Amino acid sequence: MHQIFTHHRGKTGGRFLKKTARFFQELVFPCQCLNCRVLLYTVNAEPGTSQAYFCPSCMSRGLPRFEPPFCPRCGHMFDTGENHICETCLKHLPRIHKVRAVLSYQGLVRDILPLFKYQARLSLSRFFEPLIFESFQQFFGNADIDRILPIPLHARKLRQRGFNQSFLLVRGFAQTYYEIHGVRPVWQVDTTSLKRIRYTDPQTGFDVAVRRKNLKNSFQVTDSAAIRNRNILLVDDVYTTGATCAEAARMLLAAGANRVDVLVLARA
Ligand SMILES: [Zn+2]
Ligand SMILES: [Zn+2]
Repeated sequence: MHQIFTHHRGKTGGRFLKKTARFFQELVFPCQCLNCRVLLYTVNAEPGTSQAYFCPSCMSRGLPRFEPPFCPRCGHMFDTGENHICETCLKHLPRIHKVRAVLSYQGLVRDILPLFKYQARLSLSRFFEPLIFESFQQFFGNADIDRILPIPLHARKLRQRGFNQSFLLVRGFAQTYYEIHGVRPVWQVDTTSLKRIRYTDPQTGFDVAVRRKNLKNSFQVTDSAAIRNRNILLVDDVYTTGATCAEAARMLLAAGANRVDVLVLARA
């Protein structure tokens, strides 16, 4: 062993050492596909890439990113053309300043998000956390954000589930920012100023009108001094009809927020 290590020095040697270290690490802690849990041989995969987390079979289902062309307001993605305001936003200018996402809610993304949210496959946050931070920097890096609010869960739901998936996405934001920039961020992650006061049943399957009605007045601003005149970034896992974020934004703006933006892991 010693000979192998001393034999390879310099740049190639460094890479060799890293690969060797990873090889031994995998013998002890084998990597599994975060979706189907098949064992992965990832020595050749760059750490942090999707190939390091998912098997080729799951990857073949597609892991589409959120990318142009999209509506600059609501983030609705178009198949072709340039970015432009969509018909829905033209008809009725939304309260939310802009919606941005990391992934498109299709293919493998549709399989793994429910695993994360409902089955507590928290190992997925290793994959999600750096991705959502990267999108945060890309879309909101220069946006004068004051507070980042993960969409809160009702206390009863939080007890049932044991964790708030939206909070898990942003819990490391301040630390990651510090590690990259060497200074503390001007924004802060805020988990107390907005509360969920109405327990709503799982919403999948309801139509938009029913969802809106169920969500009405389901949020409450508990600290209006923290919200007034601030630029708020709401963070959620999935954006389908957008009813949840729209209702949270309504309450925040009513409490005097200056602007409300939304960043989600996956946009339908
Ligand atoms: Zn797999
Ligand atoms: Zn739109």
